Amino acid sequence: MQIGDMRIDALLDGEAVVPPSFCYANYSEEGWEPHKHFLDPFSDMVVHTLGGFLVRYDDKVVLVDAGVGPQPIFPFAGGAMRSAFVKLGVTPSEVTDVVFTHLHLDHIGWATVGGKIYFDNANFHVDKRDWDYFMSPDYDVPEWEQGVSDPSRDPATVRLAPLADRINFFVGDSELLPGIETVDAAGHTPGSTVLRLTSQGEQGMLLGDPVHTQPELIEDRWDFLAHIEHEQGMDSIERIRKELFDKNLPFAAAHFPGLQWGKIANDDSGKLSYARIE
Ligand SMILES: [Zn+2]
Repeated sequence: MQIGDMRIDALLDGEAVVPPSFCYANYSEEGWEPHKHFLDPFSDMVVHTLGGFLVRYDDKVVLVDAGVGPQPIFPFAGGAMRSAFVKLGVTPSEVTDVVFTHLHLDHIGWATVGGKIYFDNANFHVDKRDWDYFMSPDYDVPEWEQGVSDPSRDPATVRLAPLADRINFFVGDSELLPGIETVDAAGHTPGSTVLRLTSQGEQGMLLGDPVHTQPELIEDRWDFLAHIEHEQGMDSIERIRKELFDKNLPFAAAHFPGLQWGKIANDDSGKLSYARIE
């Protein structure tokens, strides 16, 4: 994807393939029926792709989210971000900035490996509310996370400890870097962040995790099970959806299949629809 002078490439790290009933508190088979084409045609499962995005412009090499890491636990699978960097011809040391959209374990996996900072020249950026929440000694590991993480390696308290003195904090809406603004999308986590990219009069958005599937974005208040604050999370989706629709912006979410870019618009019947774009 090209937005003005910004080149944005997806870095595939892996995937988590789960049944649709695993995703939403208000799941119903009828609700999914019109959206079955978004499921994996082989298994009728939801494919959550894992990874990040590399935004390159001027002298900046900005990594947005650091994948699930080299040793994911089922149903997280993969650990291939290293190969994705090789494919782009970029070394981890060339990354100037790492922005975490939030601090769930599938977004911080390559931040450190074996206690060493993987992107050793980068500045790291995260919303202070997420840092305070996930780095607290009182952090209460939710059930879903207990099943997919190694407590000696994967939680933010362990993974991010070596970075603690290299973090630049922001809170909610901010001008983070030239052409990159943070947009408050709290609810999935306390400091969940969407990035608005602007260059040469063009705009696009990297959504992070307010939404996890295409129907969650175009339908009304699908309630994702892993949101920390559910109502706030769904309110954030409504705000983001409005901006995407009103401005007809291209966007990519952190887990849509293939980390594919898309747009939303009304179809012929006036119903909101999603279409992938190249
Ligand atoms: Zn995630």
